[in-house]
Parts: sequence; structure tokens; C-alpha cells
Amino acid sequence: MNGLLKSKFELIIFDLDFTLWDCGGTWCDHTTPPFHMTDGSLYDAAGRKIELYPDVRLILKKLKDNNKLTGIASRTYEPAWANIFLEKLEIRHFFDYAEIYPGDKTLHFNKLKKKSGIPFEKMIFFDDEIRNIRDVTALGVTSIYVQNGIHRELVEENFY
Ligand SMILES: [Mg+2]
Repeated sequence: MNGLLKSKFELIIFDLDFTLWDCGGTWCDHTTPPFHMTDGSLYDAAGRKIELYPDVRLILKKLKDNNKLTGIASRTYEPAWANIFLEKLEIRHFFDYAEIYPGDKTLHFNKLKKKSGIPFEKMIFFDDEIRNIRDVTALGVTSIYVQNGIHRELVEENFY
């Protein structure tokens, strides 16, 4: 990821469901509380395993090592559950900003811009839904479509 050092992007933002994690084949707000850890893995009450894609921690650590600001933009209907997952999966501390609530993602990005002072042109966003990519691209944010979860190569190639 040496390209990160040359990158014009100052704030890197990620969606949650099907971008950073998979909640047993569904979305965070379709899981069943309460949640529990068994043998180091997170499960919901219906036995769904909630897990990060394999490269997530490596990607986030590298971004922080390169002094990049990081954020979350999620439109889940269950923000409290998403926050539990971030804590239990031990990635909450990697993020400088977290906008987690329902609504069009332009709302989330206007908040991110206001809080960080960083213009849309210096933000890059990763998400698995075309409607979000379309909405956020219209703001002027470089928005990258994610398939099968975030992975290291996708982040690397977009920083050059
Ligand atoms: Mg998603």
C-alpha cells in the first residue's frame, strides 16, 4: 500500500454491511439480538455469524499508520446494533468519524464534511450499493463500488 502516501485523499469512508462485514448473509438490521461471543467469534441469537472480511483490519491499520482520517457512513435502521458489532469486532478505535443512521447518504456526507472540514474532493468512499455510489458521486466524492466485501487490492489500486 505504498500508494497511500502519495494519495490526494485525506478522509477514507466505508459503508458497513457487505463492505466491512457480513452478518451471516444479511444486513445488520436483519439480525436477531442479543449478540454473543463464542470462541472469539460474534453471533446473533439465531446463530448467524457476524464477521469482518479478511483484509479489514489490515486496511484500517495501514490507513491509520499513514495518518489518514477514516469514517463510517451507514444507513442501517439499527445503529445501536452496528455499534455493538464495531466494539465486539474490535475495529471501532480505527475510526475518526461514524455517521450511522437511516437516510440518503448525502446526509451522512454533509455531516462528515462539516465535522472534518475536508472537502468532498479529498474524500474516497467504498460501498456495495449502486444507489449509494450514485448519490455520493453526485456530491463530488470519489466513490468505489465494492463486490464481495472490501479487499486490499481494491483500496490499493484507488490510491494511485
Ligand atoms: Mg452495504
